[in-house]
Amino acid sequence: MTLCPECDTDLDIDEEEVEEGDVVSCSECGTDFEVVTTNPLELNKVSEEEDEDDADDEEEEEESDY
Ligand SMILES: [Zn+2]
Repeated sequence: MTLCPECDTDLDIDEEEVEEGDVVSCSECGTDFEVVTTNPLELNKVSEEEDEDDADDEEEEEESDY
């Protein structure tokens, strides 16, 4: 039994029926999860928003050299 990391609902995923890279959706909260590994079954939340703030900070550091 695999529980949704977000709402603890049983996602009812059979690890033999999914492959790495597959995306499954929670029927309860609607969150999408990508299958990272199948043995053991590990899910990674798919986020539509990209947090790249760290990359911006690195660029600012380069500018300080001038
Ligand atoms: Zn959920």
